[in-house]
Amino acid sequence: MDLFQEQIHGRSVLGTYTMVDLFHEQIHHLWMTGKFYGHHSLGEDDRKIFRQWWGGGDETNDEIPFSYIEASGRGPSKWGELDPKWRACGVGKLQSPIDFVDKNVKVNSGLGELQKNYKPANATIISRGRDIMVAWKGDAGNIIINGISYNLQHSHWHTPSEHSFNGTRYDLELHMVHQNSHGQVAVVGIVYRYGEPDSFLSKLFPYIKSVTKQEKDLGIVNPGEIEFGSRKYYRYNGSLSVPPCTEVVLWTLIYKARTVSPEQVRALKNAVDEGFEMNARPLQPLYAREVYFYNPWDI
Ligand SMILES: [Zn+2]
Repeated sequence: MDLFQEQIHGRSVLGTYTMVDLFHEQIHHLWMTGKFYGHHSLGEDDRKIFRQWWGGGDETNDEIPFSYIEASGRGPSKWGELDPKWRACGVGKLQSPIDFVDKNVKVNSGLGELQKNYKPANATIISRGRDIMVAWKGDAGNIIINGISYNLQHSHWHTPSEHSFNGTRYDLELHMVHQNSHGQVAVVGIVYRYGEPDSFLSKLFPYIKSVTKQEKDLGIVNPGEIEFGSRKYYRYNGSLSVPPCTEVVLWTLIYKARTVSPEQVRALKNAVDEGFEMNARPLQPLYAREVYFYNPWDI
């Protein structure tokens, strides 16, 4: 983790998540080439490769090299072929998002309540072109899963929802992206259907209306104000749902759909680049994975 914190300092990077994306892309590359054996074993050679690679990277990130539109030739079914480092998008067996089907999920009360320890911290907002991101610059707290603490990095939105429930896709999905000290990622997803406005988006609304690709300060934002709405959740192992589709994500999807107003969703769609108004990846096969469901009442 120190490695890429060093790399971040003094550089204008579009939020920590960009770094996480890029770093995992590199981890994936090392793994594919047999040079990487686990999250704890980044040696000096690997670090050198990473530095060289990052040194040559494009920091402006203006160009969006993938699309959600198949007709573009760069749509989701082609992601795995667009860049050798994105192979997992095409051939991975732990890809996200998925459909949660009642008969396939295992009820596991042993998962326990999701432990959230969020706190208010300075945040910024930016359009990454493909989505709108609120990134916390200070320590915004963490969630604890299996005794491991994952710090909150940022939130972004997908329209419509990426995950579906017994085949039902909702109108919006929020991703809260967390990372532990070994660079592993835990994402909490919350889905929304059209109805009453969402209170967190209501607060952000004026900023979303005026968001640009220039990072803008929001002041102190309390992630504890993001309402989860239910203690029930699904848990599975998956991937980033955008290239490089790296399979390092421990997913938690809150069971209950909340509500969002059509106006709020429209503002998010208007703020992204043309062609990204629909920025949800198609459903991916489950393959051999288990999906767990935590229900506090079912013990
Ligand atoms: Zn996402």
